[in-house]
Amino acid sequence: MHSNTKILTQEFEYFAPKTLEEALDLLYKYRNKNTKILAGGTDLLVKMKTLNLKIDYIINIKDIPELNFINTDRELKIGAATPLSNIERVKKIKEKYPALYEGIKSMAAIAIRNMATMPGNICNASPAGDTIPPLIAYGAELKLVNKGGELIVLVEDFITGVGETIIKKDELVTQVIIPEITKNSGSAFSKKSRVKADIAKINLAIWLEREGKTCKDCRIVLGSVFIKAFRAKKAEEFLIGRVVNNDLIIKVAEKASEEIKPIDDVRSTAEYRTELARVMVEDTLKLAWDRAGGEL
Ligand SMILES: Cc1cc2nc3c(=O)[nH]c(=O)nc-3n(C[C@H](O)[C@H](O)[C@H](O)COP(=O)(O)OP(=O)(O)OC[C@H]3O[C@@H](n4cnc5c(N)ncnc54)[C@H](O)[C@@H]3O)c2cc1C
Repeated sequence: MHSNTKILTQEFEYFAPKTLEEALDLLYKYRNKNTKILAGGTDLLVKMKTLNLKIDYIINIKDIPELNFINTDRELKIGAATPLSNIERVKKIKEKYPALYEGIKSMAAIAIRNMATMPGNICNASPAGDTIPPLIAYGAELKLVNKGGELIVLVEDFITGVGETIIKKDELVTQVIIPEITKNSGSAFSKKSRVKADIAKINLAIWLEREGKTCKDCRIVLGSVFIKAFRAKKAEEFLIGRVVNNDLIIKVAEKASEEIKPIDDVRSTAEYRTELARVMVEDTLKLAWDRAGGEL
């Protein structure tokens, strides 16, 4: 039943393990019950309050020190209990992964970012999640762990639909792994929402690698235009291997807006989203190309 009360009326059992091992034991023990991981709680608790989501066991992972880290030594590794606001404060992330930095900065107010985590955004699997397009654009992976072992999976393959992922009941995302940024690559994020820090009408991340005047490789990822973040693969194919100039960018943007599958909803019409996607891809692609050292 839908209710707009802001009171948590249901009873549940609450655990705050101090180690990963303890958390995995609990997940295994309660795998056949309504059990949920609690990270920042900025999605989960809202759903429990407003959608009356029934939960029997909550496992809070925020007190597990081994899940709270940012490692920038080679590839970027970020632990599952790390608040978004800690990520946005790392200079190297702002400089090397601007699409991720910009995606995080576009989210909510700082009070929410002080609580919220990246795996929370990913596991919530909203088509509008703002960290998801940048992560897919960078080719990011997740480490999934259970008592039996661990598995590395692309963020792109992890989310399967609205609120749907491949995670198993006894599994936990322990970290996000983002590949090292190669020389001559550039990236950018953009988002259109009703007001700043609102949920996206469309969000977009582009990563590309430049070889002289041509685009060697790229990923163009749009949110809020399909049941999950959408890779505009026809537009990507059209861009790769070609000399990049203004005319090409306009054509790539048109292709991307033609291949997305937006719907009408409370935030926008499909028609508006189609037109908006074209403009956003054009602008964001120019920025990513510029950041890769390319000239137009
Ligand atoms: C006022 C407000 C504004 C917001 N604005 C935005 C916005 O602009 N853009 C945006 O994208 N989102 C926004 N959100 C949504 C939310 O803040 C983000 O999705 C956030 O990243 C969720 O992270 P969390 O740690 O709070 O997740 P939680 O609520 O703790 O968890 C979300 C889901 O993920 C699961 N989960 C969490 N961590 C793990 C893990 N390590 N392993 C397995 N499962 C896990 C939980 O069980 C739950 O199902 C907003 C929310 C609020 C309340």
